[in-house]
Amino acid sequence: MAKSGGNLMDKLVSLSKRRGIIFQSSEIYGGINSCWDYGPVGVELKRNIKEFWWRSMVYWRTDIVGIDASIIMHPAVWKASGHIESFTDPMVDCKKCRRRFRVDELKGDHCPVCGGDLTEARQFNLMFKTFMGPVEDETNMIFLRPETAQGIYVNFLNVQKSSRKKIPFGIAQIGKAFRNEITPGNFIFRTREFEQMEMQYFVKPGTDEAFFEKWKAARMEWYGELGIRPEKLRFHPHGPDELAHYAKAAFDIEYEFPFGWKELEGIHNRTDFDLSRHQQFSGKDLTYFDDQTRERYIPYVIETSAGVDRTLLTVLADAYCEEEINEDIRVVLKINPKIAPIKVAVFPLMKKDGMPEVAEKIVADLRKRYTVFYDLSGAIGRRYRRQDEIGTPFAVTIDSQTLTDQTVTVRDRDTMAQERIASAQLQNFFSDKLTI
Ligand SMILES: [Zn+2]
Repeated sequence: MAKSGGNLMDKLVSLSKRRGIIFQSSEIYGGINSCWDYGPVGVELKRNIKEFWWRSMVYWRTDIVGIDASIIMHPAVWKASGHIESFTDPMVDCKKCRRRFRVDELKGDHCPVCGGDLTEARQFNLMFKTFMGPVEDETNMIFLRPETAQGIYVNFLNVQKSSRKKIPFGIAQIGKAFRNEITPGNFIFRTREFEQMEMQYFVKPGTDEAFFEKWKAARMEWYGELGIRPEKLRFHPHGPDELAHYAKAAFDIEYEFPFGWKELEGIHNRTDFDLSRHQQFSGKDLTYFDDQTRERYIPYVIETSAGVDRTLLTVLADAYCEEEINEDIRVVLKINPKIAPIKVAVFPLMKKDGMPEVAEKIVADLRKRYTVFYDLSGAIGRRYRRQDEIGTPFAVTIDSQTLTDQTVTVRDRDTMAQERIASAQLQNFFSDKLTI
């Protein structure tokens, strides 16, 4: 197996466009910087990644429940959370060409583009602002949420009381968040609009460090189950100068992208910072009462915060392979079959002798459980290759033998080996291989 070399990112961008995984947003208008649209194949991959996360975090546990909070929240939330005050990057402007730069990304003290003089550094808030209602003034200013976490904190007691959860327990959420990053880039790695998979785990103060360690291990394990090669994953502990304003301890899970080791997910010990602040700013009692020990306290929070888009990029980068076959290059995405966008492709070998009719029956049956792609024309080799490029784990081919003994061939994406299986056995054959 040959892994692809240095220009892997270019290859992923081009494959994504060619096969309907990811398109540049508003492309017919020249595109808009760092915004991307998921195509017919990409949207399935994205849904499967989110589904796998949701099952692992919510359905397969008894101590976590989900919510889906509004993107637009009361503006006081962002005062309490510290985002209005602290969610900023120091920026300088070029006096000549008026470009804006992040101070920490500048080398030297002049504009890297035109060489002009720079202004003094100013704090630039990363939240997107807009207005609610018809009057565009300060009192109607609202923000697009920069993280989904706050929607969980403000609902802490609603969820705890309605679902009768006892500490320790968690609340999970998947949703969009927005950050007006100055330097987005690397395809879908850093974008201004992105989707998060966040879980906030509420614990008794004093038990937080043990739960922090548990969640670190559990989240690393999840990427292994997703199919990411372990040697491409590592922890990165945050030093004192990297810690966010709310955190007592933080570790990133990093992946080795073609552009270096970068953060995939953050695991944070947020202490009682958020709930205390919301109690202070809202004037509402957000304490938890433990009816066994008769203690009342504000819980500590262990947060696991992953990016959907980053995880998807990781899956693509980790799965991309080029193999030389008969002086030809086979491009194949060796995605974990359980999260593959299309699970099974069905091909009648020829468009005659009743093969399409048999194939359509098989498609109708498999579609009840899996995403199926049906293609009845073109050379069989090219049909296989197109599916390899989007990571379809299996291709079922109906040939003349099928018409006499009701068997089909099943081709494996990774080995290209084919085996004959009775078509009545297909559901059984795929069941444990393709179900999350
Ligand atoms: Zn300049």
